[in-house]
Amino acid sequence: MADERFDAIVVGAGPAGTAAAYTMAKAGLKVALVERGEFPGAKNLFGGVLYRQQLEELIPEWWKEAPLERTIVEQRLWMLGEDSVVTLGHRNEKYKSPPNCWTGLRVKFDPWFASKAEQAGALPIYETVVTELLMQGDQVVKGIRTDRDDGELEANITIVADGVNSLLGKQLGVHREWRPHEVSLAVKEVIGLSKQAIQDRFNLDANEGCTIEIVGQTCGMAGLGFLYTNQDTLSLGVGVMVNDLKKHRVKPYEVLDGLKQHPMIKKLIEGGEVREYSGHLIPEGGFNSIPPLAGNGWMICGDAAQMVNAVHREGTNLAVTSGRLAGEVAIAAHKAGDFSLRTLSAYNDAIRASIIHKDLKKYRGLHGLLAYENSEKLFNQLPQAVNDAVYEMLLVDGKPKKTKQKQAFRQLKDASGGHNMDLLRLGIKGWRAMNG
Ligand SMILES: Cc1cc2nc3c(=O)[nH]c(=O)nc-3n(C[C@H](O)[C@H](O)[C@H](O)COP(=O)(O)OP(=O)(O)OC[C@H]3O[C@@H](n4cnc5c(N)ncnc54)[C@H](O)[C@@H]3O)c2cc1C
Repeated sequence: MADERFDAIVVGAGPAGTAAAYTMAKAGLKVALVERGEFPGAKNLFGGVLYRQQLEELIPEWWKEAPLERTIVEQRLWMLGEDSVVTLGHRNEKYKSPPNCWTGLRVKFDPWFASKAEQAGALPIYETVVTELLMQGDQVVKGIRTDRDDGELEANITIVADGVNSLLGKQLGVHREWRPHEVSLAVKEVIGLSKQAIQDRFNLDANEGCTIEIVGQTCGMAGLGFLYTNQDTLSLGVGVMVNDLKKHRVKPYEVLDGLKQHPMIKKLIEGGEVREYSGHLIPEGGFNSIPPLAGNGWMICGDAAQMVNAVHREGTNLAVTSGRLAGEVAIAAHKAGDFSLRTLSAYNDAIRASIIHKDLKKYRGLHGLLAYENSEKLFNQLPQAVNDAVYEMLLVDGKPKKTKQKQAFRQLKDASGGHNMDLLRLGIKGWRAMNG
């Protein structure tokens, strides 16, 4: 291992790293793909929904051979009250052809994707932890040190795709320890249930799938739950902002246990058997937390660079796109024979021109909203008030509709702050937060 020299080393065989390795290997570069897990995906976790479009830019019709669970034809948003739900959903046959997205499991998807990079020529170096970057002076990255005995590898370019905790990003000084309001902690259970039960309970045909995003009942903390249908399992989880977890001294699994007891969720998972339980951080700092993306001999992608659009639960496709773009810049650098920031800064430009920058910029105000409005209001009082207001409007109890309408409005107003203008103010703030 000690004598090997590569055109590029990629650290991390998640969606970002594998996309980078695949792109470069396909163009003929000598690439090493280093992963600490026994195999790619061994320790990885997501919700998870995989999207067609971004990966198709790398591997046309990849979904025809990849191990996927169900084609998502219906997406629901649930606003939970204590023992009630207000739902919004969309189902469309058009989502089948071409498919828009699927549920997936990383333990199956990551090895498949990495095998594509291997077939393209990338050298897999798994079960190997990268402990640090090799530096020439304090400015230029010239490779990696690993936990293997003869564990140094040199390369012209190192692509850092080591996920949310990014040890190497910290060494580069571009990634500090994330602050508690920049990350959420998610826990997830995979619950075994027969195919037929899943199809009956979610109103699905054989390969059709459904996703449910859940607002409310997170103990008054900023966070979202999710319930996704796989072939013969359900993925149920919740992610809560770490600053709120600290403040409330609640453990994420306690929130998940609470959700499992909710009457609407309980019915859907009834009789299921928990097959896996896992936890993971999600980078949610968004646009304002994106670090410098390139330097002399290095680029950084995916979660390590905070590229997650939490509003649309898109992380894998941003990871794939950033990995591809880093790979393309590495190919250009290889041709030019220049691996300095002068050439690699093209990666910064490519990200700026991409959908990653545009989408994260759109939601850049969200953290301001979360900072100024307390989580209890947004994630407990309001969802509860919406449930109470809808209950009031639909209940036929002899009260005139005008009285009911006033009462429903008062419930919403009280949950927004109590004053007449509070609801409007919150609406405007919310609109601004969601629109850059
Ligand atoms: C609960 C949860 C639900 C989610 N749901 C969705 C969803 O539904 N849809 C979606 O698109 N996204 C979702 N995401 C986000 C998505 O999973 C991530 O954005 C995406 O996986 C990022 O890819 P990545 O390659 O940057 O990082 P990762 O997938 O984290 O990959 C990093 C890789 O680097 C390896 N590694 C780390 N350090 C080292 C080291 N020192 N040496 C060697 N290898 C190392 C790791 O083992 C890992 O394989 C979810 C995330 C979570 C936690």
